[in-house]
Amino acid sequence: MEQQSKTLRLSADRAEEIQTAGNLLKNGGLVAIPTETVYGLAANALDGRAVAAIFAAKGRPMDNPLIVHISQLDQWAALVSEIPPRAMELANRFWPGPLTIILPKSPLIPDEVSAGQATVAVRFPSHPVARAVIDAAGVPLAAPSANLSGSPSPTEAQHVLADLDGRIDAVLDGGPCRVGVESTVVTLAQEVPRLLRPGGITPEQLSQVLGRVEVDPAVMNPLAAGEKVLSPGMKYKHYSPKANVILVKGNLSAYLEYVNSRVEEGVFALCYDGEQEALRVPAVAYGAKQDAAGQARHLFDALRKLDQMDARVVYARSPQPKGVGLAVYNRLIRAAGFEVVELG
Ligand code: AMP
Ligand code: MG
Repeated sequence: MEQQSKTLRLSADRAEEIQTAGNLLKNGGLVAIPTETVYGLAANALDGRAVAAIFAAKGRPMDNPLIVHISQLDQWAALVSEIPPRAMELANRFWPGPLTIILPKSPLIPDEVSAGQATVAVRFPSHPVARAVIDAAGVPLAAPSANLSGSPSPTEAQHVLADLDGRIDAVLDGGPCRVGVESTVVTLAQEVPRLLRPGGITPEQLSQVLGRVEVDPAVMNPLAAGEKVLSPGMKYKHYSPKANVILVKGNLSAYLEYVNSRVEEGVFALCYDGEQEALRVPAVAYGAKQDAAGQARHLFDALRKLDQMDARVVYARSPQPKGVGLAVYNRLIRAAGFEVVELG
């Protein structure tokens, strides 16, 4: 049997190790890198074979396209057929940052990246390490989240190793991610701009630049059987710990009464900060009630912790789907497979 090569541990604190990451990528390798959203599993976006290896390492369905990451605004033009004025306005306002913009692709984009679509998703991240690695590689990098397909996205190097140790060439440790959920995805490849995935840039912020923005129904709701999707990523079970997560909607006292009447081996709560004391089941908190940004930063780590604690059933406090909270809600309702309990 072929010996699995070991995954190199690199530190973003050392310039020469960022260069090592760049060299591995230049040579067709796979390196997990920190970004401000989550850790990405990067490969040379212009090399179809390197990109195909991302799908294999993650177990990602081949029809789910990847985001291409750039380190300078002027790298964008070669990747798309053209940059319309409203796209440039968006970029000027929100790049570098947690926003992905979809446009018709240029012939430079391999089919593996776009997964059969005529479009390509591009992002210019703000994380200095992500940008330094792209510079060191000298090519744009295709990078989905650096987790096994279906499991919660990684917000620390340790999460990456828990899923992908031995399956990728290296992980570059740059500490925890600031935003904590994946980028906002908006398509401009149609007349009315459409939000395909909520993230750190809110629909309200997009509307300030674009005017009317449609929110894709898949952001909040399950897909009907056989329904066609604009963003293939939305159709898969996602962000799921092994436990059965159930989203509980209602006020605190209703939540406490509901969960505390279900005390049993393996039953856990995913609650807001400060609520653990009132719960009679073991609980993990994912942020303060009024702090959507904090919830976004901690959600995926909280889901991974629940797995480590062998949670079997998790009753999760439902976040307010407003602002950045829309992204938190979108991830958590997928982690729950759309299983919701509404308390009167
Ligand atoms: P991830 O790589 O985990 O951040 O997921 C990328 C997300 O962007 C997935 O939901 C993809 O379906 C979506 N995406 C990437 N490229 C495109 C594209 N060309 N058209 C529509 N959705 C895309
Ligand atoms: Mg992902």
